[in-house]
Amino acid sequence: MRNFSDYAELSADELRARIAAVRAAAGDRLVVLAHYYVPDEVVDLADFVGDSLGLAKQAAASPAEAVLFCGVKFMLETADVLMNRPDKIAARGGRRAVVMALDLSAGCPMADMITAEQAEDWKRQLDELVDFSEFTPITYVNSSSETKAFCGRFGGKVCTSANAEKVVREALANRPKVLFMPDSRLGRTTCLTLGIAPEEIVTWRPNKPLGLATPEEIKRARAILWDGCCPVHQRFSASVVKKIKRDNPGSQFWVHPEAPRDIVDLSDGYGSTTKLIDVVSKAEPGSVLAIGTEWKLVDRLRRRNPDKTVLFPAEEPSKCVNMGKSTLAKVAWVLENWLDGEPTNVVTTPAEVAEDAYRALESLL
Ligand code: SF4
Repeated sequence: MRNFSDYAELSADELRARIAAVRAAAGDRLVVLAHYYVPDEVVDLADFVGDSLGLAKQAAASPAEAVLFCGVKFMLETADVLMNRPDKIAARGGRRAVVMALDLSAGCPMADMITAEQAEDWKRQLDELVDFSEFTPITYVNSSSETKAFCGRFGGKVCTSANAEKVVREALANRPKVLFMPDSRLGRTTCLTLGIAPEEIVTWRPNKPLGLATPEEIKRARAILWDGCCPVHQRFSASVVKKIKRDNPGSQFWVHPEAPRDIVDLSDGYGSTTKLIDVVSKAEPGSVLAIGTEWKLVDRLRRRNPDKTVLFPAEEPSKCVNMGKSTLAKVAWVLENWLDGEPTNVVTTPAEVAEDAYRALESLL
């Protein structure tokens, strides 16, 4: 195993040259995937850059034997489940695809806001009051493979911000109620958009008896939302949005649905990161747009659209520190170890978890 500290002193040019050498030697055995929120130096060398839905589909379809996934842990777990289905392993002659992280400490605080044990306890408490089989459990893709497996065990689904409305709508066509985890913000906006009345939506506070709801509220609910959220998307400011609108008549404010509902209510529209990128790229030259998502992406949109004014709707930049852990030095270190035959930072999902998680993940494909 190579020593990571040897890479810290190398120049960006040298790191890029070493990465290029590995990729030339690897050919199509290796694919590099990156999320929109990782820094430019890593985005620029990826084979595919996307949001969670796009990346999951790329991983599922990839014939590569190794993936360097520049993102956070739940994304790698999803890629591992999708790439290492028994039929895919058989097609590779019995070999698992190697899914490698740049930094195993790069997790997602929102995904960590619910554990499989908490989900099971949630079900136990609901079982005492209502018929759980009336609920479809739905988890946002920003969750652990164990949480996805919980949903898979009870006929549930995985959604992303790009397809949440479709997944919840289809679930409600089959069963009358949904549980939504772990992002109560995305869950609330999705349910309201689908016409569920506010009094039929209950937010379940973790680790509190009955989630601090009353038995009547739970019996009446068509949607029960786990009270998790993305810290990065909670920092937009209503007063900054209003000031941008005041100072720039005709400007537009678009936001990611992980934002709180009062911020979404101020927007001209909301959508996944891919949707927000699309809105900026298709806007007329001279447009002024405030974009409410992770700061690194908004800054990239600003630099890559010099004919438009792209503003950030908060007092301070709101950066995802875990996505920021992706660096060129880590790319070179992980790839050279892999080429040496000593893959590092490999993410593997236990078979029994992967099986149940895949049942829920099929809704993404
Ligand atoms: S931006 Fe939010 S949801 Fe996305 S990885 Fe970071 S903390 Fe998690």
